[in-house]
Amino acid sequence: MAERYTTYSGYLQERYGRAVYRIGVDARFTCPNREGGLGGCVFCDEVASKAVYQEGVGEGAKDLEGRIRSVAEQIARGKEFITRRYGSEHFSLYYQSHTNTYDSIGNLRRIYQSGLDEGPFVELIVSTRPDCVTKEIVELLASFKDQVQAVVVELGLESSDERLLVRLGRNHDTECYRKSVELLRSAGIGVYTHIIIMLGLPKEDSSTGVKTAHLLNEVGTDAVKIHDLHILRDTVLEDWYESGEVTVASSERHLASIVTFLRNLDPGIVVARLICETPRTRRVAPRFPTPKQQIITRLSALLEEGGYRQGDLL
Ligand code: SF4
Repeated sequence: MAERYTTYSGYLQERYGRAVYRIGVDARFTCPNREGGLGGCVFCDEVASKAVYQEGVGEGAKDLEGRIRSVAEQIARGKEFITRRYGSEHFSLYYQSHTNTYDSIGNLRRIYQSGLDEGPFVELIVSTRPDCVTKEIVELLASFKDQVQAVVVELGLESSDERLLVRLGRNHDTECYRKSVELLRSAGIGVYTHIIIMLGLPKEDSSTGVKTAHLLNEVGTDAVKIHDLHILRDTVLEDWYESGEVTVASSERHLASIVTFLRNLDPGIVVARLICETPRTRRVAPRFPTPKQQIITRLSALLEEGGYRQGDLL
């Protein structure tokens, strides 16, 4: 049965003729939204997102040479794990944790190049905030295009609603996101956009997701990564959850929101993720989330039953 939305695996197969696996690395970047008293995003627990197989690798690395050694170590670990589990030797290099363009141009160049030297890689993927994409950084990223088949930046937008961005402590607006996308696209760099499908915040409803889909269509992001609202330990969101100010949507409600979002999303945009798989040890709620595979199966069934497709409401 053909999928009713544009899947990431289908996109990789079509573009590269094979499955390609990301090796996520933590190059010990920090985040401007945590420094200088800004406080950070209300959902961020300061623990860097990383693949399970990278737990404990290179965590003490602080100086540039230590960070570079750690990245090489993480790449070796990732290659070994992916080859053993999936039998694949086609990898993309993914600078994943925190704000991966928040450093001097000299350090960024060394860190990206030293990672690429451990290749070959299909794509270089760099995750960052919209306010950390400058002309110089875009030029630097573009200079790696001849070493990989694509350079991609993953931008955290989270929502198209300005009031919600303030409430979430993002400290950037949608205009900043638009400008970053424009800058990246003009240099031939791919753009993936992180968003949060939120339900449970006061004054929040599914129309916010629809507006976000329309914004993504308008700017022409290549892909979207969906983040379900869940509560992590030691976050502002945990306080809001404990005081009853915030609730967490059931997986059925989350799925219903995804269906609405997808029906409003341009079918040319790849859906690179439907749900986050944050480890249970960091979660307050939901403690026992529905497994990813069940979410994927259920979503396909909901689209099939309703006769819906990505973009059919446009
Ligand atoms: S931008 Fe990312 S790393 Fe920085 S505070 Fe927000 S979620 Fe955390």
